[in-house]
Amino acid sequence: MARAATGGVLLLVEDEDAIGRLVKAYLEQQDGWTVVWVRTGEDAVGELRRHPVRLVVLDIGLPGIDGFEVCRQMRAHSKVPIVMLTARDEEPDRVAGLELGADDYVSKPFSPRELAARIKAILRRVENRNEDEVLTARDIVLRRDSRVVTVVGDEVELTGKEFDLLACFLEHPGIVLSREKLLDLVWGITYPGGTRTVDVHVAQLRRKLGDPESIRTVRGAGYKLQAA
Ligand code: CA
Repeated sequence: MARAATGGVLLLVEDEDAIGRLVKAYLEQQDGWTVVWVRTGEDAVGELRRHPVRLVVLDIGLPGIDGFEVCRQMRAHSKVPIVMLTARDEEPDRVAGLELGADDYVSKPFSPRELAARIKAILRRVENRNEDEVLTARDIVLRRDSRVVTVVGDEVELTGKEFDLLACFLEHPGIVLSREKLLDLVWGITYPGGTRTVDVHVAQLRRKLGDPESIRTVRGAGYKLQAA
């Protein structure tokens, strides 16, 4: 079943190597997230614009601008759920973070498992209140909250990456997306030869959707979703 509650791109902002490595490995291996990990607030604000980020885990103590300022800047243009990591079990930090629009906080030290559980609770709460998190085109219906895709009412079983790729196409109906752009948006990476991965996933999507015309190849340019 493509009914995983977690998955997609998670932006992790943490300057401590040990914590960053641990959290990234746990969330990727246990919960199927694609974790984009940055170490500064400045990078975090940039990355949020580059990827379809589903949730942000944000440390308060960072070099350069701190987590509070990052939260403020993100909230200026995004409703993405934000979990703040507070260094101390201090009330003022929590209150300040929540007032700036963070959705929750986790106090250090924490176990990756505890953070993962908190993330799931936040997703349930935040995504259930966003009814507009349903994307449609042709006979395809994609629900972000439950991560379920149906075609003419029948559920289609997709892998996490196939789901994210389809969501990306549905967000840009009729627009040509290059292989490099798709690789960046969905996988959060670029590397030589990586575009072959995109081709393989597009082929799989066409097959599973049972509609080869749904995603068109635009020669020399990339792919686009045929909106109708
Ligand atoms: Ca820190």
